[in-house]
Amino acid sequence: MRRVAFAIVGILVVVFSTYVFGQSATPKTIALRCGSLFDGRGDGLRKNVVVVIEGEKIKEIATSAPGDARIVDLSHETCLPGLIDTHTHILLQGDITAADYDQQLLKQSPEYRTILATVNARRALEYGFTSIRDLETEGAGYADADVKKAINEGVIPGPRMQVATRALDVTGAYPLQGYAPAVMVPHGVQLVDGVDNARQAVREQISHGADWIKVYSDRSYRVREDGVLDDIPTFTMDELRAIVDEAHRERHKVASHAMALNGVHNSVEAGVDSIDHGNYIADEDLKTMAARGIFYVPTIFVGEYVAQGRAAEGAPVWVKMIQIHEDTFKRAMKAGVKIAFGTDAGGFDWKVNPAKEFSSMVKFGMTPAQAIRSATVTAAELLGMKDSLGTIEAGKLADIVAVPGDPLADVSVMEKVDFVMKGGVVERGP
Ligand SMILES: [Zn+2]
Repeated sequence: MRRVAFAIVGILVVVFSTYVFGQSATPKTIALRCGSLFDGRGDGLRKNVVVVIEGEKIKEIATSAPGDARIVDLSHETCLPGLIDTHTHILLQGDITAADYDQQLLKQSPEYRTILATVNARRALEYGFTSIRDLETEGAGYADADVKKAINEGVIPGPRMQVATRALDVTGAYPLQGYAPAVMVPHGVQLVDGVDNARQAVREQISHGADWIKVYSDRSYRVREDGVLDDIPTFTMDELRAIVDEAHRERHKVASHAMALNGVHNSVEAGVDSIDHGNYIADEDLKTMAARGIFYVPTIFVGEYVAQGRAAEGAPVWVKMIQIHEDTFKRAMKAGVKIAFGTDAGGFDWKVNPAKEFSSMVKFGMTPAQAIRSATVTAAELLGMKDSLGTIEAGKLADIVAVPGDPLADVSVMEKVDFVMKGGVVERGP
């Protein structure tokens, strides 16, 4: 009797281990038959290509599928590298007006907001964004690090994430604001003043899972008579330098929300790694950005999207900022600054497809191919992952999307992604 029991246990162990480890022992081969391929290495399309995937990686780009492969027919589609959005907020559900924002921080618990964030993560993936850099939780603490963990452990679907956790700003510069002094309200960031506190905050955030440190470098925007967008810088140079130094010392990078003259200039001087928004950037600073390889993440679409709402609230500067932004974008292209695709999704409702940013970039002067490369090759470089992401070539992770049409002829088809593969796993599509 006992021998029989041992035999049964033995069989179960074999069956179980085949079930659990079988996949990694002999990786499954999938062949994507693509009508066209934009591989991200050049600006053109290749016709009738087969992308062979083994396990989580691309094995080869071929003309026919291997005999044992599972074939996915995308012969009426254009295949592209998985898209990367380098500026998102999955913990935010749109904040066109101050009231939208206060409502979320005052009436929704971080736990409830995290539940909503899991839905946004799935949406991002279904839109074709297989990787995102999520730039702070807006008052929801370290919830982004937990969402990332749940995705990495296969608990919920979502993109690869790099997270910034709480972000940093100085006292009096970030909402919630305007409440009576005796009323304690939450803030959308970790408030820090002084060099030592700033360093401590960087250490805390990294210890709780921050991949990036995000700083808010300016606030309170106004257009000067000469057309320059002016601001109030938040941190002193000493504080900003301390934050960047501490992050870099711990091998982490710094993203700076900087929309105007002084915020951008101080950030560039302090040595941040990306300038986010950058509605106005002086020529001198563009030159420095190009020379030092500092990325520009322009987030154009959100500006257009929130402008009307904020103008109606009594802040017409947001409408003027769009024209200033276009001029800056063109000067940045001319200066040879690396421009990475980022949308600020969450700043607008996640039900709106962030891929609308492609059309905004083309409207401001990029070719469709340049806009797509900003969301693939350049964005992968910003994430420090250009060896594994950003192009479709042998040896890279199999992050691949497909759209029905030719995005080089009409870039708005990037809003119609209908096939998504992340790390060799089909997340959406046939
Ligand atoms: Zn943002």
